[in-house]
Amino acid sequence: APTPSPTPDPATGAAVKAMDRAHVFHSWSAQGLIDPLAVAGAEGAYFWDYDGNRYLDFSSQLVNTNIGHQHPKVVAAVREQAAKLCTIAPGFAVDVRSEAARLIAERTPGDLDKIFFTNGGAEAVENAVRMARLHTGRPKVLSAYRSYHGATAAAINLTGDPRRWPSDTASAGVVHFWGPFLYRSPFHSADERQECERALAHLEETIAFEGPQSIAAIILETVPGTAGIMVPPPGYLAGVREICDRYGIVFVLDEVMAGFGRTGHWFAADHFGVTPDLLTFAKGVNSGYVPLGGVAISARIAADFDQRPYPGGLTYSGHPLACASAVATINAMAEEGIVENAAEIGEKVIGPGLREIAERHPSVGEVRGLGVFWALDLVKSKETREPLVPYNASGPANQPMAEFAAACKRGGLWPFVNMNRTHVVPPCTITEAEAKEGLAILDEALSAADAHTV
Ligand code: PMP
Repeated sequence: APTPSPTPDPATGAAVKAMDRAHVFHSWSAQGLIDPLAVAGAEGAYFWDYDGNRYLDFSSQLVNTNIGHQHPKVVAAVREQAAKLCTIAPGFAVDVRSEAARLIAERTPGDLDKIFFTNGGAEAVENAVRMARLHTGRPKVLSAYRSYHGATAAAINLTGDPRRWPSDTASAGVVHFWGPFLYRSPFHSADERQECERALAHLEETIAFEGPQSIAAIILETVPGTAGIMVPPPGYLAGVREICDRYGIVFVLDEVMAGFGRTGHWFAADHFGVTPDLLTFAKGVNSGYVPLGGVAISARIAADFDQRPYPGGLTYSGHPLACASAVATINAMAEEGIVENAAEIGEKVIGPGLREIAERHPSVGEVRGLGVFWALDLVKSKETREPLVPYNASGPANQPMAEFAAACKRGGLWPFVNMNRTHVVPPCTITEAEAKEGLAILDEALSAADAHTV
């Protein structure tokens, strides 16, 4: 593990935190109830505070530091680009932007060969929806319950997490349907094959009742991430592809979280042999060293905007610092076999390790995932599968998960906890020794969850 630098200084940490509490308004939080950790530095799979505590990052922050912290090649690329050209409007052709687009297009499936750059995932989703509506001339977009697509206007309404607020007015034309998820099947299927068939039939029925001629797009996360890392059954995505083709519906795969190595392939779609019409990406494209996202566009949809303008854009689309970090990240991932590492560690260490842990802990209902993209579904009882905490629990109702997370942190592991799940999503660069270290801490911390089983 790396040596923390700078030297721990609790007084500095306290000052950083006091200033944060005075002036920073945090995401997704009751401002008065949070206690953010003051971070002093990070390297590889670790970060540390000012008090001498170091954490193995099993969250990859927000599942984005696929290449780990402070990769020297990426840091150098940003530094060099800053010295050369910090900013230029999207309308110009520049070397790093062209190169980033080429490297991405080479890796996306099929003919997704044109790249529209954004500053992150939500903007990618907004623009994919805009493209689909312009292309088809149709208004509606279908998305799945138990999904996350971002926190901007269209993206948050497409999001099918079990959460709704008065600010999110169910924007005109968004229709939700159920995707497949055998462990908590809305179709009460007996096996994966039945779940796949029933989920596809349900989608067909939804389309029939909405009217296919009114549907611009179906958007799905290839492997839904935030809502629980639910690997779709074989045949499901191919089935959705076929339905989209039949009705002239644009198929959008959201690979913001699952893309760029997370699942052990460059894109999760590679596992299923499916090519969407539009593919959204962000996070792993440059591990978040500079904000970047985008939409990879099929030849057919790109051609639609050949002789008429695409009415959309962003001041910082294809920002040189972001593109330079993407070029360096993708090249380093290829040179250092980082995607292959994610596949191997997942298959040989994390998957088997989690399954073994699950057998010994009454609170672990299901283990699912692939690559470095895993979830433990925590339950009150393996028999009933009742979630360890209710959806959207906070305060005392969320105590079991809060205790589990605290136990992880005491052990030196930073977990990704969401509702009744903990996700095991370390950087794609994680070594076997680091993965085993993390699993051992997780194993011990799960006793805190076990204490709440019945
Ligand atoms: N789509 C997916 C699948 C995501 O996981 C996320 C972020 N968690 C987003 C979109 C939104 O990305 P951003 O936060 O960069 O706007």
